[in-house]
Amino acid sequence: MATRVHIPAPGPDRKEIVVRGVAASPGISIGPAYVYRRESYREDLREISESNVPEELGRFDRAIAKCERDLAKIIAIAREKVGEESASIFDAQRLMLRDSAIYGSVVNAIKRDRVNAGYAVEKVMNRHQKVMEASDSEYLRERAQDILDVRDRILRHLRKGKALSKIDPNHIVVSENLTAADVVLFSRRGVLGCAMDFGGPTSHVSIMARSMSLPAVVGLHGVTDRIETGEMLILDGIRGELILSPTLTTLERYRTRAERFQRLKTEEKELVPLSSETLDGHRVRLEANLELQEELPMLEEYGAEGIGLFRTEILFLMEGKLVVPEEAQFEIYKKIVDVVAPNPTTFRVIDLGGDKLLPMGHREHNPFLGWRGIRILLDKPELLMPQLRAILRASAFGPVRIMVPMVTEVGEIKAFRERLEEAQNQLSERGQAYDANAEVGIMIEVPSAALLADRFAPYADFFSIGTNDLTQYTLAVDRGNDLVADLYQDLHPAVLMLIRRTVEAASGHGIPVSVCGEMATNLRAVPVLIGLGVDTLSASPVYLPGIKRVIRAMKRSEGRMLASEALQSQTAQEVAKRLDKWLDEHACGLGFYLEGAQAEE
Ligand code: PEP
Ligand code: MG
Repeated sequence: MATRVHIPAPGPDRKEIVVRGVAASPGISIGPAYVYRRESYREDLREISESNVPEELGRFDRAIAKCERDLAKIIAIAREKVGEESASIFDAQRLMLRDSAIYGSVVNAIKRDRVNAGYAVEKVMNRHQKVMEASDSEYLRERAQDILDVRDRILRHLRKGKALSKIDPNHIVVSENLTAADVVLFSRRGVLGCAMDFGGPTSHVSIMARSMSLPAVVGLHGVTDRIETGEMLILDGIRGELILSPTLTTLERYRTRAERFQRLKTEEKELVPLSSETLDGHRVRLEANLELQEELPMLEEYGAEGIGLFRTEILFLMEGKLVVPEEAQFEIYKKIVDVVAPNPTTFRVIDLGGDKLLPMGHREHNPFLGWRGIRILLDKPELLMPQLRAILRASAFGPVRIMVPMVTEVGEIKAFRERLEEAQNQLSERGQAYDANAEVGIMIEVPSAALLADRFAPYADFFSIGTNDLTQYTLAVDRGNDLVADLYQDLHPAVLMLIRRTVEAASGHGIPVSVCGEMATNLRAVPVLIGLGVDTLSASPVYLPGIKRVIRAMKRSEGRMLASEALQSQTAQEVAKRLDKWLDEHACGLGFYLEGAQAEE
């Protein structure tokens, strides 16, 4: 397990320090640190010229309008879900936004003192907060924290995009925590890698880093406080290490290692045109997990036979919006289908909640066990219906599958199918085309769905096993918590048993099964999954050649034998040991991906 380490403060005498974390996205980066503190809202004073005053007032007013929109959504949700009392707190926050004592004072400060809006907001609101905190009235003292929440919300909107533009590409971003959306923006900006204090191997920020081929290490326990921007770092996303103040010898060693990794990636490209088939002629379909349109060219580059999982919610999260109009969604989905056809595109309907927090600041104590996935969609037809219509309309242009996340009971999939029929009827009434036979699949990612897979099967055209969630819910290990990352084991016999049960139910009903969780990228797991009878593996495109390498090195009969041994094992470690031995003997050149990175040296 990653342990808390004491790291001396940076300075000229600091010795090389290796901090162990969790490998989140493979690759090696060498470069200076950029320490990104998302939550520090210290606003520097900037004097502005008289001609810039209207622009600054405009920025402030737009930020207030955005806060009003955020809070209106939060109030609606709070009212519906947690009751009037908590809604009234947010209502009070909303009223503060245009309260003349605050709004008027900020406007005055911008006009009179000619200071930037951020500085004015911080100054005015800090002053109010202090007055309230010192008040005799208990009510006012309690509201003091609300002032700070409102201040931070305004500053966040004022700053959006600004922090990003300060980041120099060619740096390794070091941060306490990032969101999946941050990783996309950083990657587009050309940063070298990401190191984070928090996070687990299948948290969405890690998945996103892998999708963007951005080396990342998470779960580094407070490392951010000990690093200064500009300090030299080595980030090893294969072993899950961050090296501070590396010596020249270490730097040299890692440059060679980075080159070797690149070479391996290039060599893997040779596998792309080859068939994904075992030595005894069994075909395994390889599809791609995608989150963004810009990843589409990777399908051909890495030989994907379609999209096995398109995480549509990422589109929403990137826009920071909860509701994207049907027409805008349709345009995006159609573009994707146009590129992917004649292969299929599997659109997973919006899967918000968990570590993909709703963009309106909704908070729960236990979000992974809370309002997530299909639960939100059935509660909020205004989210589900436009999306269903948009996906259905895209199905007129090529093969489309629709996939439902977080299903835990049969009633949910029945209700979902009713909504789908409703969406089809609406389109028919409008005279708009769609494929009435677009397949509907259920994600098996909760033990109840795996255990009762035979009851779910009549309502599904396919199953897709989401091992990221299935592992966390089976083993009671939060997928994003680095403190328990060593307990997060997708090769645990209990997880394997649930996969077997799912496959058996599917084959009994003649429907196919895929695995679209990160387990498909765990090269050790590949022979076992195939041995268990999984038909398709879906993963970030860059992983597909490596997966194919293992498939082409095995016989299906060996997979069955390994699966049967694994199911009888007592622990995940036992399973891993057996599989490592098999991989060592059968699939050469994988050392880098397994802990055997050491074997390379
Ligand atoms: C999963 O849970 O395995 C999955 C593919 O969905 P997500 O990672 O988006 O929760
Ligand atoms: Mg999931």
